[in-house]
Amino acid sequence: MSTKIIYDGIKWHLQSGYFTYRPKINGKVVAIRLHKYIYEKFYGKIPINCVVHHKDLNRRNNNIENLQLLTLVEHGKLHNIGRKTFLGRHHTKESKLKISLAHKGIKESRETCRKISEGQLGKKRTEETKLRMREAWKIRKSRSKNGL
Ligand SMILES: [Zn+2]
Repeated sequence: MSTKIIYDGIKWHLQSGYFTYRPKINGKVVAIRLHKYIYEKFYGKIPINCVVHHKDLNRRNNNIENLQLLTLVEHGKLHNIGRKTFLGRHHTKESKLKISLAHKGIKESRETCRKISEGQLGKKRTEETKLRMREAWKIRKSRSKNGL
């Protein structure tokens, strides 16, 4: 099993189960997780209070199709479902099955995440920007469907 991969010309090292890149920004070392990096590359900034979840629970599978944006609450629920059968750091087949079934009830929640972070920031969008965002969404959705 490889502990290093190259993505976007960057070398990512396996760290705590995640592929991580640690660049120095303004003299400070920051840790960037590959799954977040990829998600943001496709869909833009991850809103506050939201996490990028690996659908197949394999933290090394960072295919965009395997990444799902969830609110912290949804994410917690999802992992709690499999907790009883969760052994150490790895999920058992049984817990994986339970989680994958739970997935079907939870949709990609970018919209929910956006609402939460907007609420936190106290920002309100005008109808016009909302409409523009909705259009941008449709384009993104059709793009991801076509695998572009
Ligand atoms: Zn997760």
